[in-house]
Amino acid sequence: MTTAISPETCEVKTTCPYCGVGCGVNARVSDNRLIAVSGDKHHPANLGRLCVKGSALHETTDLQGRLLQPQIKGQPASWEQAINKVAQWFKEIIAEHGPDSVALYLSGQILTEDYYVANKLMKGFIGSANVDTNSRLCMSSAVAAHKRAFGADLVPGCYEDLELTDLLLLVGSNTAWAHPVVYQRIVAAKKARPEMKIVVIDPRQTATCDIADLHLSLKPGSDGYLFTGLLSYLADNSALDASFINNHTEGFDNALLAANQLTGSVAESAQLCGLNKTDLGQLYDWFSRTEKVVTLFSQGINQSSSGVDKGNAIINCHLASGKIGKPGAAPFSITGQPNAMGGREVGGLANQLAAHMDFSDPANIELVESFWEAPQIARKEGLKAVDMFQAVHDGHIKAIWIIGTNPVVSMPDADFVREALQRCELVVVSDCMEKTDTTACADVLLPATGWAEKDGTVTNSERVISRQRGFLKPAGNSRHDWQIITAVARAMGFEAGFRFSSPGEIFAEHAALSGFHNNGKRCFDISGLSALSEREYDQLKPVRWPCVKGEKHNPVRLFSDGEFNTPSGRARMLPIMPAAPLNQTSPAYPLILNTGRIRDQWHTMTRTGKASRLLNHIDQPFVELSADDAETYGIIENDLVEVASTQGRCVVRSKIAKGQSAGSLFMPIHWNAQFASQARVDSLFASIKDPISGQPEAKHCPVTLRKLNTAWQGVLISDKALTELPCEYWCKVPLEKGFRYELAGLTLPQNWPSWLESQLEIGTDRIELNSSNNYRLACFNAQQPQLLFFASSDRVSTQALPNSAWLSKQFTQITGTAAQRMSLLAGKPVDSSDDAGAIICSCFEVGEDTIRRAISQGANSTEQLATQLKCGSNCGSCLPEIRALLSWFR
Ligand code: SF4
Repeated sequence: MTTAISPETCEVKTTCPYCGVGCGVNARVSDNRLIAVSGDKHHPANLGRLCVKGSALHETTDLQGRLLQPQIKGQPASWEQAINKVAQWFKEIIAEHGPDSVALYLSGQILTEDYYVANKLMKGFIGSANVDTNSRLCMSSAVAAHKRAFGADLVPGCYEDLELTDLLLLVGSNTAWAHPVVYQRIVAAKKARPEMKIVVIDPRQTATCDIADLHLSLKPGSDGYLFTGLLSYLADNSALDASFINNHTEGFDNALLAANQLTGSVAESAQLCGLNKTDLGQLYDWFSRTEKVVTLFSQGINQSSSGVDKGNAIINCHLASGKIGKPGAAPFSITGQPNAMGGREVGGLANQLAAHMDFSDPANIELVESFWEAPQIARKEGLKAVDMFQAVHDGHIKAIWIIGTNPVVSMPDADFVREALQRCELVVVSDCMEKTDTTACADVLLPATGWAEKDGTVTNSERVISRQRGFLKPAGNSRHDWQIITAVARAMGFEAGFRFSSPGEIFAEHAALSGFHNNGKRCFDISGLSALSEREYDQLKPVRWPCVKGEKHNPVRLFSDGEFNTPSGRARMLPIMPAAPLNQTSPAYPLILNTGRIRDQWHTMTRTGKASRLLNHIDQPFVELSADDAETYGIIENDLVEVASTQGRCVVRSKIAKGQSAGSLFMPIHWNAQFASQARVDSLFASIKDPISGQPEAKHCPVTLRKLNTAWQGVLISDKALTELPCEYWCKVPLEKGFRYELAGLTLPQNWPSWLESQLEIGTDRIELNSSNNYRLACFNAQQPQLLFFASSDRVSTQALPNSAWLSKQFTQITGTAAQRMSLLAGKPVDSSDDAGAIICSCFEVGEDTIRRAISQGANSTEQLATQLKCGSNCGSCLPEIRALLSWFR
């Protein structure tokens, strides 16, 4: 799907690599460079839209920081050496300690073809199911809930249902920031049909609440009570679909009995959820009286010590009221990662086997064994992520191969995970980036191709398989993950099973396995795609599964006929006894920490952290807290604070947020040791997990909070990246040119120039200012700033420092005259109308102060601001914040 634009330029259709929305992207390529991206109007997920992260994809494909050459024990190696070494080490360890002494840890960001061969190698040829993935941390509770209720891991609905519904519940999902294009579709639907009701169920008042008719700020972790209460309410208010229950479900009586035990009345449910009875009654009333209801749920439900039960509590309500399998009616789990669904399809989780088969039925094992002609098939489940890293730490797993993910940042108890890897006999890491918190622990580093180079398929949250097409040459000596995995497999002696020469061949085998002896037993059947030629595979348009060979009409929605994938054909309703989060507060740790994403970053910033534009909106790690807690702990906005738990500590900035409830905090998941001194939020979390899915509880961590009494704070801009800085807090912000470091220390250096010279070279063309509280230095090379440094020991020192965004801009300017140089050292623009303030609209780099000025001069709608300043007119992700500014002025 490549269209020539000119003799030098072409446009390639591909898929965004970030979130589970799975937007289609037109990539414009010239001379092996990605020069622009736009949304694909023909892709069913985004219909032409892209969010700010997707819009900045072309700013992330440079070679800076890329891993370009294999390394063994820190030394460059050839591919032959690296492959042979990995194969030999794995073989030796397996020979001595058995197949379960090795493990693979994969990622929801690798492609389905990569996943397929990794899973096949481990489960079919090595003979262990110790292959898990970071998708365990994302949606494994939803997978387990689907399997319990529907008999298979099936998402019934599609994105169109979010537009067709009359009542949309957004549960544990800051859709506006985590899945922005889906959110924009909802915003457009609400605008077209204002009578459509939207309810946000989330302890925090997030940007998503901007369009909500009702926001239920429930007690953290109490969602299970809310939905069992809803089931009781439906029964008490004649809102059950008796015909659907009788004909298409089983287990209703027990499910209702369990629900009634704790949450028999609205008042009881409201009390358990910490909600106002009237507000909760409103939701229950709307749900019971509305035929078309979608409940969209995400990490707020899944990342819980009872996440599977919460998922089933939601599904129970949809089954009991027959709100499933119809346009605009479904329980809908939206995944975080771009290819979490593709990983589930191939069986990339340790408790799955392959192609939606698991280990519970020996017939499945035989079927897969015969299809793969597997010499040594795994016969039992492997270790899920948390247990896998525990086994690495304990020494039971002696070799682990981590592919495309960063567990030293993303796993709970992240310091323990780092220690586990440091202890492990053999750690192999395949990654496209050289320096991550995890590659730092590797014995062997294997350079993998990145998004713009990779070729294969991904599946989004609505079961749409899309091609991700490689349009740049592999960087340096990097190779595709499927090539690396199959090369190691062949070097281990498994030649016959891994003779693939293209991703198309792998996809064809994967599709064929899905249909192998299927006969309608397994809903995941894409056998209709198993005979694609290379050309057809290359040109494959987005296609939704199931896609069964010989079937002309594959369904868009599942369960429209009331038939489920259980042995009885009926959906199972589960008796749910909701439970509070396992890790509760104590006098030592009295606050609850919640985590999530911010608007412009993705995962551990290895890609989005490269685009300086994406750090304009929020550039430093932070903790959000309520005004009440700020007062209690003596904290003001932008203070440096320590957040500590039983497991670790982080040092971040404070943000006092209106939407944060007293007693609850929020921190983003993105920052890591490459970007900040101590901001790996997962180092705070204990490894508490759901007993069924094994998914860690990442939304509820008891912590304490303390303001740090810093002696000084500063900002440093350098044209070179610096290594660890000797101060309590540093945070790196990549700029278009150079890097900005936000700094703070607990003790004041005696001599600033000496302190700086211990870190970096200071040129002789310099001007400086040294007063009792402030030190400022600007160094120049020719007529350009080479180094800028501002430090202040004023009490509220950040206010004594220049605006960082303005300062960063000056770093790229010519500063030839004495007046320009002095203005730079003064740290403020000559004309204050030049100061944009904190960036709100990342697409057009429009700052808060600019927007405020326009509003005070008469602009009074988002449309007027868009006309005047362009802000909010591209991806729309900033519209909630623009609306908040407008309402502040009214
Ligand atoms: Fe990418 Fe944004 Fe679409 Fe997610 S919503 S797939 S991040 S463009």
